Amino acid sequence: MRVYIGIDDTDSKHSMCTTYVGAVVMKRAESLGARRADYPWLVRLNPNCPFKTRGNAAVCIPLDLEPPRFEEVWDTVVETVMELADTGRGADPGVVAFDAETRSHLHEFYLKAVRELVDLEETVELCESNSLDYWAVGESRGLIGAVAAVGAIEETLTTYELLAYRSKVMWGKERLVDPESVKEMDRMFGQLTFDNYDYEKDEVRVTPHTPCPVLLGIRGLNPDVLPYALSTLKLGEPIEFYEVFRTNQATDLHYVTCDIGSIRPLTSVVIRGRVVRSPTVTQGGHVFFEVSDGSGRVVVAVYEPTGEIRRVVSKLVLSDEVVVFGSVKEKPEGLTVNLEKLKVLRLADLIVERAPRCPHCRKSMKSVGKGKGYRCRRCGFYGPDLNKVSVKVGREIVEGFYEVAVSARRHIVRPLSLHEQDAAEHL
Ligand code: ATP
Repeated sequence: MRVYIGIDDTDSKHSMCTTYVGAVVMKRAESLGARRADYPWLVRLNPNCPFKTRGNAAVCIPLDLEPPRFEEVWDTVVETVMELADTGRGADPGVVAFDAETRSHLHEFYLKAVRELVDLEETVELCESNSLDYWAVGESRGLIGAVAAVGAIEETLTTYELLAYRSKVMWGKERLVDPESVKEMDRMFGQLTFDNYDYEKDEVRVTPHTPCPVLLGIRGLNPDVLPYALSTLKLGEPIEFYEVFRTNQATDLHYVTCDIGSIRPLTSVVIRGRVVRSPTVTQGGHVFFEVSDGSGRVVVAVYEPTGEIRRVVSKLVLSDEVVVFGSVKEKPEGLTVNLEKLKVLRLADLIVERAPRCPHCRKSMKSVGKGKGYRCRRCGFYGPDLNKVSVKVGREIVEGFYEVAVSARRHIVRPLSLHEQDAAEHL
């Protein structure tokens, strides 16, 4: 029989990682005779979820096993989660098991959990009426992610991540990964992996910054090359073991294309509109502008950690046509879209008003006073009827796609480097 085990909310800000729990569960299930039916799944859910610890990840383990072994495997799964979850410090773990037939009815639930907020009561009812078994502690909130992971649509699991785990004595300590070897690995495997290094901020991206069991993660499009990429890294500490996960990372699955008038908080949207308020840059380096599509207008926020993209955004002008990809936040002044990617579709003509040039010597003239004309600074020519003139000036940015710095990118957002590969595949 095919069984899908979903696990979520095993970690707190202080320790643990649901992928680690999933990987251990998988090993223990295998030792009981269960067989992997696929890679374990690392499923990213709504990145705006207020209950998340960090990246809103949940895990599903697809297993093939003999029906009489189910109880034994299930008990081991629950015992493992009880043993490893950081309950008491913020984790509310949930574990579920579904068979293949009932899983196929969970796809909508999955998409909802990626794009919106899901109700806990609805989830518990679903587990009671449809699951092979379920278990939860605390507020039981972990059941939401556990069910959503089981419901993952396989066609959306198009990328992979190799996660290498540290030995327990190293948990919470500085990660010993040589940055130069990460750059070298990126040079060698850059076409098949992504997000290894943030060259804009000169920062290693394969290592997390949290006190969890993960030493590093290498993301890629082909699961087979990931162990080779790992083998090239220079590490100053041992790897306890590694596991390759199949994921919905870098898929843009969280976005919903909509009119500005219908955007809702805590969702991620793609909106197309015109710039109706020019960008302003605050002291802290954050940039804000406004777009409208006729159905409404909304503030787009581009915060300092997003990096270089702010230089482009700050050069937008009124009437520029743009597509904004971002997450919707509720602010006291109204809804704001936090920018993740920007497509500049059409740059408007930038017309500026300038003093006229002298008809005799071409030097820029100086105003004599309001309505009193202009006088040439060089030859002294006075034109009492001369007025300001409108001039079209060149734009400092070009049309195209822009994205936030790698270090500011959410796991589920598709990097532009992969857009380019997508386009090449369609040639
Ligand atoms: P990590 O990425 O480090 O594994 P996390 O960011 O995944 O941690 P969790 O500790 O798993 O955070 O907490 C997220 C909680 O939010 C879980 O209880 C999960 O069930 C719940 N959750 C996830 N998505 C949704 C959603 N769309 N609506 C409501 N609850 C959700």
